[in-house]
Amino acid sequence: MESRRGFIKGAALTAAALQVGTLGNVFAKSNTNSSAKKGKMKLSFIPYTLELAHVFTLSTSSRTTTPDVLTRIEFGDYVGYGEASMPPYLGESIESVCAFLSKVDLSQFNDPMEMEKILDYIDHISPLDKAAKASVDIALHDLVGKMIGQPWWKIWGYDQEKMPNTSYTIGIDKPEVVRQKTKEAAPYKILKVKLGRDTDKELIETIRSVTDKPICVDVNQGWTDRNFAVEMSHWLAEKGVVFIEQGMPKERIDDNAYLTEHSPIPTFADEAFQRLPDLIKCHGVYNGINIKLMKSTGLREGHRMLELARALDMKVMIGCMTETSCGISAAAQLAPMVDYADLDGNLLIKNDAYSGMKIVDGKVTLNDKPGIGIVPTGSLRFK
Ligand code: MG
Repeated sequence: MESRRGFIKGAALTAAALQVGTLGNVFAKSNTNSSAKKGKMKLSFIPYTLELAHVFTLSTSSRTTTPDVLTRIEFGDYVGYGEASMPPYLGESIESVCAFLSKVDLSQFNDPMEMEKILDYIDHISPLDKAAKASVDIALHDLVGKMIGQPWWKIWGYDQEKMPNTSYTIGIDKPEVVRQKTKEAAPYKILKVKLGRDTDKELIETIRSVTDKPICVDVNQGWTDRNFAVEMSHWLAEKGVVFIEQGMPKERIDDNAYLTEHSPIPTFADEAFQRLPDLIKCHGVYNGINIKLMKSTGLREGHRMLELARALDMKVMIGCMTETSCGISAAAQLAPMVDYADLDGNLLIKNDAYSGMKIVDGKVTLNDKPGIGIVPTGSLRFK
């Protein structure tokens, strides 16, 4: 265990050094411009309820909307956009996010390029509030990317050629609806299915009656017996399922490790993996992690998670909540380096407020716009 810790610490330092090295050069070039820009950063935000195109059903709940808060940071002529999405089961709300953002005072910082200092300050305002923190982190990355004049995937030196296919979620529903949704998902190369009910096999068989595309499953901790979980993993593998996300309750570390050891297909941690230190707990228990910006507090920590997981030879997927194209396009900046992308959150809503990354022929496709590569699609009244 000690040597593993030592290795993780070393890998973290290497990842941090790599990041500073890359960004240092870019910042050095652009500092001339930014220091000439006088002014204060100003954060503003607006509550925004996401309307879902279909009723969204998990093993524990159903809903038709997702509470969300859109953020904006202004600095001189530059404007960066961010977002906090708060599915109810994660414990944040429009009220808690607005209360957090009301405490944020960015006027104490003279230069948005001081991202480490600014985001350390944000992280120390409270112990939780992960989505609220992400909304500031994303807006700051968008702002700084615009000041540099490059999108983050280019600043990090990632290769657009390596973009993964994105999965498209088919919710739990009646067989005829599932068949219809599967047909509607024609442009997507991988389907994602939520499991964790006693009708799981029927649901997979229903999808298999219309397509032989690869499927990934998210059990959302729904399996409670480890022998049943292993049995399911073998059955799912035979049905062309490519991985299992969070099969068993996150607290049951030994049971999840047992499933990983005996499953013919990889396992991923989602609920069990929130912040960067959780990577140490998940290493050896799962084959991979699901990074979501609303859990990682944004791109700064999401990028570190990705680099460190790679150093530990773990698989990585980039996921999302139901979000506008703001959060999704921010997450997509990391996509060239992941094994799987689950970035369909903006496709599941009817009232997207931005246009950004696109899914072209099932693939995550980034653009060359600076920052996180988005433009507002309407007028938003930030306060
Ligand atoms: Mg999940």
